[in-house]
Amino acid sequence: MPVDRAIADILAGMMLDFQTCYRALQNRDPRYDGQFFTGVTSTGIFCRPVCPAVRPKPENCRFFPSAAAAMAAGFRPCLRCRPESAPHSPAWNGVKTTVSRALKLIEQGALEQHSVGRLAQRLGVGERYLRRLFATHVGASPAAVDRSRRVLLAKKLITDSTRPMADIAYAAGFRSIRQFNDTFRKLYGRPPTALRTAHLGGRGSKSAPPCQPTPDRESASRGPL
Ligand SMILES: [Zn+2]
Repeated sequence: MPVDRAIADILAGMMLDFQTCYRALQNRDPRYDGQFFTGVTSTGIFCRPVCPAVRPKPENCRFFPSAAAAMAAGFRPCLRCRPESAPHSPAWNGVKTTVSRALKLIEQGALEQHSVGRLAQRLGVGERYLRRLFATHVGASPAAVDRSRRVLLAKKLITDSTRPMADIAYAAGFRSIRQFNDTFRKLYGRPPTALRTAHLGGRGSKSAPPCQPTPDRESASRGPL
């Protein structure tokens, strides 16, 4: 499919088709960065199209319109291409004003204090309608988007700053250090502090496996993808 056509499809609010995504992935096409994420079923990890890791086989790929959708489907963020660093999808700008506005408000922490119902109210739409828009255009519920926002923001701060973990937990909207630790253990298979150490110590390491799998997935992902 020509790129123009693919972009037209995004603008129409549709998810890119499989072939377009797979081709973008094969070419590590930066134009698609942020427009979709690839869940790799053989590793349980999701990546940006520009990930430098070994390209997965098509039968192991699932494509998602957002990081939140990939996370909601049970995939873990790749430690190598760092989905938290993906640019915000231009597809979301102006496609559906309500969705873009909702995403922006969630990004600003609208769901930290208030419910989805309240968010819908602010946008002048019904809650049910808002949920439906999210299911169609984002591939995840508003709450799932907020969860992934918190985790990805925290992950970015862990890797890119030297701020204390407690600060990061609260800055990212976690209610407690415990919730912060539990979320990271569950998602990355290690505590937040280990992610910082891994980042500081693992730079440029040639022996790192393709997608730096979390321990319980390690054996599954050692082989070629
Ligand atoms: Zn990756």
